[in-house]
Amino acid sequence: MACIFCQIIEKTIPADVVHEDDDLIVFKDINPKGAIHVLLVPKAHIETVNDLETHHIPVMGHMFEVVQQLAAKWKIVEQGYRLTLNVGRGGGQEVDHIHMHMVSGWTRR
Ligand code: 5GP
Ligand code: ZN
Repeated sequence: MACIFCQIIEKTIPADVVHEDDDLIVFKDINPKGAIHVLLVPKAHIETVNDLETHHIPVMGHMFEVVQQLAAKWKIVEQGYRLTLNVGRGGGQEVDHIHMHMVSGWTRR
């Protein structure tokens, strides 16, 4: 299996997992851009936002529920945080398995 995020989901390569349920895994980015930087990754191998279909709506909505839970747990609701979905090479996407970045303590370049 070539996809690095599918390998993390299958636990064939390690990751620092902060949340996992039937449809979604959240783990720390290996190259953090802020004090907190996690990736929210649907377990289904969907390549990009362009490949989303109607049946993916529940898991994409569920992502935001988990974002709210993590923001509350980490006490960053007030200070705020950044959510990013990079789409395609021109959009900065390097891993072709859909994921949303959640970054707090982000510094503007
Ligand atoms: P993209 O540029 O595709 O939106 O973001 C991919 C992210 O995945 C990058 O921020 C990169 O640091 C992270 N990443 C790449 N490979 C690994 C890995 O093996 N483990 C973890 N935890 N993060 C990774
Ligand atoms: Zn994958």
